[in-house]
Amino acid sequence: MQSKNKRAPDTHERAHIAAIKEMDCGVCGAAGPSDAHELKQGQWFTAIPLCKDCHQGSFNGIHGQQRIWKVLKKDELSVLNETIERVVYG
Ligand SMILES: [Zn+2]
Ligand SMILES: [Zn+2]
Repeated sequence: MQSKNKRAPDTHERAHIAAIKEMDCGVCGAAGPSDAHELKQGQWFTAIPLCKDCHQGSFNGIHGQQRIWKVLKKDELSVLNETIERVVYG
């Protein structure tokens, strides 16, 4: 059952998410596979690759205290910027 704001990804979106998950972590560089974290939920092309720690870690994760993000001076938009470059230009 799809709600208005959350629908299943289409073919292009699924392919993009699969590619993101193959990438190394966009914050610390840990080898993939990574989680795909969407900057805006349901907007799949805003996804960035994150390792478990940079994603969900209570100390380092974007959903936690974001310590490693601050140490490395990264934020979601800067990682998205680098992710798009890697997707487009390798
Ligand atoms: Zn990481
Ligand atoms: Zn997330």
